[in-house]
Amino acid sequence: MVSCLVSRGYDPLALSEAIEKLVCKGDLRRYYRVVRGGRWYGGIATADCCGCNLRCVFCWSGAPRDQPHKVGRMYSPEEVAHKLVSLAKRREYRLVRISGNEPTIGRSHLLKVVELVEQTGGITFILETNGILIGSDTSYAKDLSKFSRLHVRVSIKGTTPEEFHRLTGARPEAFELQLQALKNLLDHGVRCHPAVMLSFSTREGREFLIRKLSDIDRVLVEEFEEEYVFLYPHVVERLRRAGITPRVAYSPDSIPEELV
Ligand code: SF4
Repeated sequence: MVSCLVSRGYDPLALSEAIEKLVCKGDLRRYYRVVRGGRWYGGIATADCCGCNLRCVFCWSGAPRDQPHKVGRMYSPEEVAHKLVSLAKRREYRLVRISGNEPTIGRSHLLKVVELVEQTGGITFILETNGILIGSDTSYAKDLSKFSRLHVRVSIKGTTPEEFHRLTGARPEAFELQLQALKNLLDHGVRCHPAVMLSFSTREGREFLIRKLSDIDRVLVEEFEEEYVFLYPHVVERLRRAGITPRVAYSPDSIPEELV
């Protein structure tokens, strides 16, 4: 009886607050790599930040996620935007992003970086997020709606609340925050799409999620992006320790072209 009353898993919103204290100070945010180029999206400049509000078993981020205050250094929005845009121009990329961990932690920093990138003209900012913070506060989506060159990719962890709990260790109810993020973004006219981690999902789970997305807006089903685990050695070790085996996964040197 008592166990029925005990919440299973951590609260990602409480974790967000704790991590924000470690990796943000005013408009500053801690990063472990600024900046790198890459083939994703056909070419994109990326700054990798520290600190996340989830603990996915398939995560490829090591110390920058688990000891985020011990790696890298603090950067101002001006410094990050300048380095992103400079690399994008040198390599003729049209896209930039913040990746590595969860970019929505430290809202004032993120908004300033997006604003500065937008002011340079011609470059689109891809916001890759797990959606937890945007789903928990509709004013976040409203703040993002003032940018015209922004696209939000909401990376959903699994297809059901139970699968989300198994993959992230967070309380199952927080699964809904990711879906709510998509709804909040669409309600405020922000361009977005769902990317869904399907490596561990059943057919029934996938159908459940498709119905949920369809209930929000059919366009989310049409733009549904599939994500799969890439088996970097430390990811394999994390999965082994968690006792979780993916149904579908790829080695880093044989990632299908359509997933790049
Ligand atoms: S949301 Fe991304 S960065 Fe955070 S734990 Fe999950 S995979 Fe890692």
